[in-house]
Amino acid sequence: MDILTINCPNCGGVVQRRRDEYFVRCPYCGSEVAFDEIKEEAQLEGYRAHINYLEQNENADRTSREAMVRWMRARNIVLAAMTLLYLIGFCVVGYDSEMDRDGEMWIGVPMMLISLGMYFFGVPTLAAAYPAYDALSKKTDKAGKVKMWIKLGLTGLGLFCVASILAYIIIRKILKV
Ligand SMILES: [Zn+2]
Repeated sequence: MDILTINCPNCGGVVQRRRDEYFVRCPYCGSEVAFDEIKEEAQLEGYRAHINYLEQNENADRTSREAMVRWMRARNIVLAAMTLLYLIGFCVVGYDSEMDRDGEMWIGVPMMLISLGMYFFGVPTLAAAYPAYDALSKKTDKAGKVKMWIKLGLTGLGLFCVASILAYIIIRKILKV
């Protein structure tokens, strides 16, 4: 039920009424308070403006959530492709050089170079595209992008370490070189 509020013209106390009441006795001073239509309209306008504001925020929220999902998908693809290329390239280079073959120059090394290129170009690109837009303050969170750059950079380094260890294990234990 809608409750309308007005300040008592006599004592200033907060007086509330239901929508179907037009005169209310002030609970503080006992005088009769009339709710006039102009004030009521103004209050309804206030409610309407508030509802519009909430709806706008909800839409902005949904848009930024969708942008975040797309960004995370792109990030996962870049990091996964980078790690996989590095892992396979490392295995080829390690295996071929142990076996004294020269395939690494044509397959392994280019794969590792592409992987490093993905790291050095992909991380800043992803950080710049990070949807760090705050819908409420309507400002881009620049510090958030910089933090994401550092975070992605460190994540990439970690993935290279994991891929190197995996490649070592694959070459030594599985290929038994
Ligand atoms: Zn009063």
